[in-house]
Amino acid sequence: MQITVIGCSPAWPNAGGAQSGYLVEGDGRLLLDCGPGVLARLREAANGWPVLDALAITHFHLDHWGDLVPWIFGAAFGPGSDVPKPELWLPPGGDEKLRAYGRQLSFVDQIDMAFDVREYEDGAPFQAAGFNVVPISLEHYSELTFGMRVTNHEGTLAYSGDTGPTPKLTELARDADLFLCEATLLEPEPSLRGHLSEDEAIEAFQTSGAHRLVVIHRPDERPLSRPLELAADGDVLTF
Ligand SMILES: [Zn+2]
Repeated sequence: MQITVIGCSPAWPNAGGAQSGYLVEGDGRLLLDCGPGVLARLREAANGWPVLDALAITHFHLDHWGDLVPWIFGAAFGPGSDVPKPELWLPPGGDEKLRAYGRQLSFVDQIDMAFDVREYEDGAPFQAAGFNVVPISLEHYSELTFGMRVTNHEGTLAYSGDTGPTPKLTELARDADLFLCEATLLEPEPSLRGHLSEDEAIEAFQTSGAHRLVVIHRPDERPLSRPLELAADGDVLTF
């Protein structure tokens, strides 16, 4: 399995960075999240329009799905019309949510030209791009949000998406070969939780038994205080 960090910026972009997008390649090609800046990077790598089997979106904060909008326009009116439609896996209720945004932002009539839209369910495995994917709901303020556990014959990737501390992170990343875990915060939030501090990411990693931790979604303004592995756009991770 090969994972390319297309973009790993937090809710605001790091300098020169793209927001969340992680390309997972095995027998097929699966993109986890599609934040602003991701499509341009994928176009650069593809020297054309990206050809994917599936995309999966963890939640509807814009930094995790915003580039679906230009993707839809490019597939309807541009070079994306020449490539097969990928599956687009959304959280429960996501189909209607995307269409509601589409009605507001004038892309609703083009959605089905771009994507084969599907919804996953909490804890229910689905098959996408040759991977077994288990979405697990996590703690992210009031937003319905999922982490993704992606497995094939070579091993398991765990992707936290955005989350505060929860025992479900342990379940998500249990014995994974690679744990892409967010550590957005300098200090834990005082009340309603939605992100992790560095210490909390380490704790989730240690309790999970995952083999390798790579920190994502970290603002440049908040350097890590320990020698953890920190993702950078363009990194290629394999196992
Ligand atoms: Zn978020």
